Amino acid sequence: MSQLSNHIIEGKNFTAAQVGKWEDLLQYKLAHPMKGRGKVFLKDDLKCTGMEVSLNVFPPGISMPFHHKHKENEELYIFIKGAGQFQIDEETLEVKEGTVIRVAQEGVRIWRNTSEENLYFICIQAKEGTLEGSTIDDGVVINKPIMWSNE
Ligand code: ZN
Repeated sequence: MSQLSNHIIEGKNFTAAQVGKWEDLLQYKLAHPMKGRGKVFLKDDLKCTGMEVSLNVFPPGISMPFHHKHKENEELYIFIKGAGQFQIDEETLEVKEGTVIRVAQEGVRIWRNTSEENLYFICIQAKEGTLEGSTIDDGVVINKPIMWSNE
């Protein structure tokens, strides 16, 4: 079920969403209540076929209430703003703006906000071991004049 139905633009080869300001993300909640955090999943709205993506906010003092791992997917956590701690198995890392963590499917993970401001991060899930072409190997240069509609 879309949480963003008024803010989606679809074209022949794209889907775009406008989620709003990061500080307003708390308006989005998971179906099962989780105290005080905001999370919006975008796979369905964006029609992603090879990944799941969520935008997340944890207010000060908020921790995940449980550990989790995954059946098939690896996860990439990209921290945007704020500061906290992220635990994978027995290891704890400090996280802040610019920290990026890839967690393997088997990694038992949990994280919390240890700062006085909101902790913002993006989480991307994709099936582990499936990526073939990547970086510039998968890109194809198209010889087409560059024109913008306002020129
Ligand atoms: Zn997960």
